[in-house]
Amino acid sequence: MFLPTDILRRFDGVARGTLLQRFGCSRKTLSVAVHAGTIERVRAGVFALPSANRRIVTAAAHGGSLSCAAALRLHGVWMLPEENDEIHVWMGSAGRRHDHEPCECKTHYSPGMAGIGVAPVAVALVHFYRCSNDDEAFFAAYESA
Ligand SMILES: [Zn+2]
Ligand SMILES: [Zn+2]
Repeated sequence: MFLPTDILRRFDGVARGTLLQRFGCSRKTLSVAVHAGTIERVRAGVFALPSANRRIVTAAAHGGSLSCAAALRLHGVWMLPEENDEIHVWMGSAGRRHDHEPCECKTHYSPGMAGIGVAPVAVALVHFYRCSNDDEAFFAAYESA
């Protein structure tokens, strides 16, 4: 049987409880793991590894997947070194935003099923294009992707 931590490692460190249950982790197993501190509950029905990337966890708490510059970096796309702490979240076409503190996320709605984790390169690139007011930064990322 898989431990919740084994499965979470396969999914960028965050996953829905329903997914973990499909791999045989009962609600009880998940609750025991949360109490033991081997996994954390991000919000109702969403779990993460304590070691998971904090931006991905915040995006999951917000209700979607990490997008824009931070997602492109995680995909290994070469980006201009400018770094900021903004978290941009892809919500799919009609995702539901969840309250969490402190929330300074920028929300992106665009077609598709966002899920949680890291947005695909093509999605993140489109969002980055919309958010970036710097053509040079965008084309550097585009060429690398
Ligand atoms: Zn953005
Ligand atoms: Zn947020």
